Amino acid sequence: MTTKKVTRHYCDHCRKGSFTKPRMVKHESRCCRNPHRACGVCETENTDVEANAKLLIADGLDALKSKTDCPACILAAHMMANKLSGYTTPRSSDDDGTEFFYYDYKEAMRGWFAEKNNAAVLADWHGNY
Ligand SMILES: [Zn+2]
Ligand SMILES: [Zn+2]
Repeated sequence: MTTKKVTRHYCDHCRKGSFTKPRMVKHESRCCRNPHRACGVCETENTDVEANAKLLIADGLDALKSKTDCPACILAAHMMANKLSGYTTPRSSDDDGTEFFYYDYKEAMRGWFAEKNNAAVLADWHGNY
């Protein structure tokens, strides 16, 4: 028998875990639940998620879309809007944002990549959010 102790790294913002530290560092900086996330999709360095969430709560999705058309930034705003509004649902590492402020992220991402035709971003995004 072989017994191994392993180190697992967890995101401070969601419940995602990884055995690889660099992968978790990268995830955490871009995590949709990180209030100052760097966006890997639209390449915004420091997204003010709370401001976007407040805009969504106050003026709705169209107002938010006039500020950003990035699906990942819009998804993060939805998650924050739920948090600010006190809507809680069980979370998991593959949480796709199906909460009270619902946003069809996957559909929006397909549209985004088709429009930008950015295969590099798609490859990087896949499985990272
Ligand atoms: Zn996370
Ligand atoms: Zn973005």
